[in-house]
Amino acid sequence: MSVIVVGTMAYDAIETPFGKVDKIVGGSATYVAYAASNFIQPINQVSIIGYDFPKEEIHNLIFRGVVMDGVEMIKDKRSFFWSGRYHEDMNTRDTLVTDLNVLADFNPKLPDHYQGSEFLMLGNLQPSVQMNVIKQLKKRPKLIVMDTMNFWMETAMPDLENVLKEVDVLMINDAEARQLSGQYSVTKAARIILSKGPKFLIVKKGEHGALLFYDDKVFFAPALPLEEVFDPTGAGDTFAGGFIGHLAKTRDISFENMKTAIVVGSAMASFCVEKFGPTRLKEISKKDIDKRLRQFHELTNFDIELS
Ligand code: AMP
Repeated sequence: MSVIVVGTMAYDAIETPFGKVDKIVGGSATYVAYAASNFIQPINQVSIIGYDFPKEEIHNLIFRGVVMDGVEMIKDKRSFFWSGRYHEDMNTRDTLVTDLNVLADFNPKLPDHYQGSEFLMLGNLQPSVQMNVIKQLKKRPKLIVMDTMNFWMETAMPDLENVLKEVDVLMINDAEARQLSGQYSVTKAARIILSKGPKFLIVKKGEHGALLFYDDKVFFAPALPLEEVFDPTGAGDTFAGGFIGHLAKTRDISFENMKTAIVVGSAMASFCVEKFGPTRLKEISKKDIDKRLRQFHELTNFDIELS
């Protein structure tokens, strides 16, 4: 059983009301891998890095069962760089800089031994690269999950619409769902987005939890009410890692099991926001994760008599 994770491995500069870091490791695939490797290994990573990406981070990931054969290293270019500033509410942010660097001409070559992976997580990345990876797979995976963001809606919408036709699950935040559908109501937006290809849609609403849409069904999972959100960067990717990690571990892609996967994703995201970048994700153990899942259970479990 294995999972392919495609996405960015980056350097970020982050500013929140609590502090600032000028250079910290980030990238969609980095967060997905840190989260998913708690549930399933190996993680077959597909990404591109420059000469500046820290060796120590690569070793950390390998130690966690992340296979790096699909991560290309370009000796004379810098890694993808992203910089963002969060508003007081910590739910909204402004992107200050997106330097594609190595990402500008990324043309991934899937290692042969990645073939046959049953789960594919297309992390946030150019839609054309996401499509390129799908096309290289000789056998369609059991489940293809895709994440994307407003940046690609604004710069590569036709490519993005093509990828949507190929995936099973799309995960985006509420603002992106509105942007993609042109509808303010998230429920109406979901109907429109599901008609574009994906069978399942997950709409992330930051501290207000996440919604899962499938056919005419909808499921909601809250986010854990935390006293302090320190840095939300990577929370969406960490959510994705927990989600796909749980599905791959249980090998069950039913709507019922996706509900659990959403709670697992939310639990992982709740750790991510506690410290800058992926720092907290590197500290937690299986025991911490189980404890947090129990908190989620208590948060949402109630009795009611229905006649
Ligand atoms: P999230 O907070 O879950 O949306 O993810 C933040 C991470 O996404 C950061 O570590 C960035 O390096 C990465 N990122 C930001 N913009 C992009 C983009 N346009 N494509 C891919 N990854 C990005």
